[in-house]
Amino acid sequence: MKMQNFIMHHHLACLLLFSGPLLAFAMNTPENFLQCLSLHSENATSISKLVYTPINSSYSSVLDITIQNLRFLTPSAPKPLLIVTPLHVSHIQAAIICSRQYGVQMRIRSGGHDYEGLSYLSKVPFVIVDLVNLRSIAVDVEDETAWVQSGATVGELYYRIAEKSKTLGFPAGVCPTVGVGGHFSGGGYGTMLRKYGLAIDNVIDAQLVDAQGRLLDRESMGEDLFWAIRGGGGGSFGVVVSWKVKLVPVPSTVTVFTLRRTLEQHATKLVHQWQLIGNELPNDLFMRVILQSYNSGPNGTRTMQASFNTLYLGGVNALLEVTRSSFPDLNVTRQDCTEMSWIESIFYFAGFPSGEPLEVLLNRSSNTKLFFKHKSDYVKEPIPKSGLEGMWERFFEEDEGMAQMIWNHYGGKMAEISESALPFPHRAGVLYKIQHITAWTDGGNEVASKHVSWIRSFFSYMARYVSKSPREAYINYRDLDIGTNNVKGDTDYKRASAWGKKYFKNNFDRLVRVKTTVDPSNFFQHEQSIPPFSF
Ligand SMILES: Cc1cc2nc3c(=O)[nH]c(=O)nc-3n(C[C@H](O)[C@H](O)[C@H](O)COP(=O)(O)OP(=O)(O)OC[C@H]3O[C@@H](n4cnc5c(N)ncnc54)[C@H](O)[C@@H]3O)c2cc1C
Repeated sequence: MKMQNFIMHHHLACLLLFSGPLLAFAMNTPENFLQCLSLHSENATSISKLVYTPINSSYSSVLDITIQNLRFLTPSAPKPLLIVTPLHVSHIQAAIICSRQYGVQMRIRSGGHDYEGLSYLSKVPFVIVDLVNLRSIAVDVEDETAWVQSGATVGELYYRIAEKSKTLGFPAGVCPTVGVGGHFSGGGYGTMLRKYGLAIDNVIDAQLVDAQGRLLDRESMGEDLFWAIRGGGGGSFGVVVSWKVKLVPVPSTVTVFTLRRTLEQHATKLVHQWQLIGNELPNDLFMRVILQSYNSGPNGTRTMQASFNTLYLGGVNALLEVTRSSFPDLNVTRQDCTEMSWIESIFYFAGFPSGEPLEVLLNRSSNTKLFFKHKSDYVKEPIPKSGLEGMWERFFEEDEGMAQMIWNHYGGKMAEISESALPFPHRAGVLYKIQHITAWTDGGNEVASKHVSWIRSFFSYMARYVSKSPREAYINYRDLDIGTNNVKGDTDYKRASAWGKKYFKNNFDRLVRVKTTVDPSNFFQHEQSIPPFSF
């Protein structure tokens, strides 16, 4: 089913099929549900203040605030019966017990950045457990570790680390508003992935509430479940309350630059070379390429622009030596480079203007929300120049500035970690990952279907150049086009393998085994949750 139809179908299905139970719930259940929550919460008096039903004036603002993809911020999108914003673990436990008791589905939301909105949308009656209030961060500089709660954003984590140390950092996402809960559940990469791997490669303990409402840590959950939650995707195994991470050393001076080259400035040749040198670059260098098209002349001539967006974990002199020897044609000069602290580089990559106070990292909601559809690919062989030129042609068919690709080198630490060490399997052999992007600013359905069709057709063109059997994809770039569990939520292994093998390769089977052990009745489920065997 086409995505647009799927969404329409999804909304209609909710209205038509579920208006009965929904009404019943609306009339009788919220109070009972609330009583149930109070009964099972340690701090019963506070729970009612932490629950929002549609009759609360702040229900919509609580729901909407972290919705990142405007496609799902519409009046017709399915809404939760209620939203619980726990302050204590016992509130999460109560929400699980009561959701089971009342037969409603539960969605877990940390930062709300899921590309397909799975943390706050469902086709069946559902409640949201929103971890917005569980976001404390305790940094232990001596031990070089931190405990971070899932409701924190990565921006908050970076801020709290930088507050205490100039020489410690953490290798997670580029965008500061991304929530730790979903981000770590699916891997989490940023500008230090070639040096230190993914966020999950640096997670050493976690606290999780399971489908029975038990609070577990690494020791009590066991190594299988601890393995699964580090990359097996959010919303399948339990509610991860907090994560213990190993902080990593960062130099007091790092260097950044962004060099932009158009087709007239030999972008095709440079992008082609970038593919060849990537895995050989020192681990201290992160150089991603952002590709987009724009009108370059007065009569609307289109060109492509490649931005080489770079972080070097060291000073400018060392960086210039590296670029001169490994990528001389890029012609990086000292004037192109800026030395700064690691935390300032977080700012730089987030696109904040320099001079803004560090506290902007604490803003939970981004002010640049768009309608979007993204997809991902892994590239294992360099794409020939003719292939690149074919991409440019297709970019010229999409509206100016709406389509982008972000290419990230792998290699370095990523290639040293075995494919099965964690559920995230895209390791040695990957040259780089592509994020395919289309975004737009107008909410009409026709506009949406035009852009979604464009990216789907672009994605089919790319098939010949990217990983095959399976065509690998990044779970944190959630894409329901690659397959879903079925509408009723009863999943089956064969159906789920279609998308599961793309995200996890052979690790999918182990994820299914873990799921079968820890949540055999499939309480935690969504369109791409890991199914237990019995379903
Ligand atoms: C603007 C933007 C920038 C991004 N930049 C990067 C980047 O630089 N690097 C990168 O790797 N990714 C990036 N991503 C993708 C991001 O990592 C994923 O969307 C991630 O899942 C978001 O986590 P969240 O908590 O914000 O999302 P949510 O929507 O809250 O959750 C995502 C999924 O995880 C589940 N979940 C959430 N919290 C928990 C929990 N505590 N326990 C169990 N399950 C949970 C949800 O139910 C849902 O299925 C970006 C996304 C956006 C929109």
